[in-house]
Amino acid sequence: MSSSSHPTVIIIGAGIIGLACALKVQAKLGEHEGTRHVEVLLVACEWPGSMPGAPSTHSADYASMWAGAHVRPIPATTPQLRREATWLKLTAAEFDRQVETEPWCGVTRIAGVEFLEAPDRGYRNQDAGSFERESGLRGYRKLSPSEVPGGVSLGFEYETFCINPPLYCEHLLRRFLLQGGKTVQRELKSEWEAFSLRGNVLFIVNASGTGFGDPKCFPIRGQTVVTNLSDITKTVTRHNKDGSRSFLIPRFFNGGTIVGGTVEPGDWRTEPDSATRSRIFAAGLTIEPYAHDDTPGSHAESPRNVKVVSDVVGRRPTREGGMRLEVEERALVQHNRKPTAGRVVHAYGAGGRGYEVSWGVASEVVELAGPLFEPRASLGAKL
Ligand SMILES: Cc1cc2nc3c(=O)[nH]c(=O)nc-3n(C[C@H](O)[C@H](O)[C@H](O)COP(=O)(O)OP(=O)(O)OC[C@H]3O[C@@H](n4cnc5c(N)ncnc54)[C@H](O)[C@@H]3O)c2cc1C
Repeated sequence: MSSSSHPTVIIIGAGIIGLACALKVQAKLGEHEGTRHVEVLLVACEWPGSMPGAPSTHSADYASMWAGAHVRPIPATTPQLRREATWLKLTAAEFDRQVETEPWCGVTRIAGVEFLEAPDRGYRNQDAGSFERESGLRGYRKLSPSEVPGGVSLGFEYETFCINPPLYCEHLLRRFLLQGGKTVQRELKSEWEAFSLRGNVLFIVNASGTGFGDPKCFPIRGQTVVTNLSDITKTVTRHNKDGSRSFLIPRFFNGGTIVGGTVEPGDWRTEPDSATRSRIFAAGLTIEPYAHDDTPGSHAESPRNVKVVSDVVGRRPTREGGMRLEVEERALVQHNRKPTAGRVVHAYGAGGRGYEVSWGVASEVVELAGPLFEPRASLGAKL
């Protein structure tokens, strides 16, 4: 334990949620002379820095390294989806800004295309106005029957973003470090353990993916393949009648193209399954002709030349009822010090949407933490 009494904000987790929160906290502290001296410390077991096909030590639980990742809005038909839509809109605005000001950061603005075999009411009722209102994304257009593959009853396109996750997370971490952020590699047993890392912790953000033993959390296994397809200009998703999905997500900056993928709630397997690999690869290539700017079939690269660079298995850190985003306060008993109130802002359980909600979630974390930027109150005689 450090004996330093320097005021510190600790963020647990170096995934997309923790990194976005760390940068938002730094920005908030920088707004006022009185808080500029506060240190921001990022604590995590696993850190960005991974390249599919090259040796990696990342576990399947570090979801941020294994995401596709694209922004694919879901019609906001439930309270949880409406909450996520608010975060997505703020994230889309931040991606827009980053694409303009930091075009090397790992985010690219491109066209998104979706094909649905059996669209529900939410998708059927969508139009350009409602789509943009909910997502902040422009350019929604329904496709004509001649523009969609057989078996598809609704197709549409829009302007969206694709992210090269390892590259983007590294970029965010570098920015955090350049702005004076500190790091510690540590496996914590509890979010409350983090209070022992510094002597004067203002609050902790718990962006650990799945929390610490929260019974509402569970993994959703995702298996995809990284391929050498390099001339894809659109991200395409096909929603099949049986609930399965095929998608292509180009990873710009020499990241190839992700062909996916599975959505397997509660499946803990971390090894790629070879039958699954063959199925998702073959299904992905059937939508590949729609992932180019020109008319289907007239692009240069033949699917026969497509090779798998690596298999990917990741666990989406999911929580029943959606993300936990709230402040929890507990009495802390620290050796040789007056008892104080410890505050944790929980921000975990992003499931399959961590990238597309990241900046909205981080903004809400900073809002929730507003009063916590003040020094902690002593609980004195209460304990
Ligand atoms: C195959 C696949 C495809 C996906 N596609 C998309 C997509 O297209 N778009 C999208 O938005 N999202 C997508 N996702 C989901 C996205 O990856 C996750 O929502 C997101 O990465 C979650 O980020 P996180 O920061 O909450 O958690 P994580 O990335 O899992 O990071 C958790 C962090 O907490 C740390 N940590 C955990 N426990 C401890 C502990 N005990 N002590 C110390 N540190 C700890 C870890 O080391 C890590 O640094 C996909 C996921 C998968 C697997």
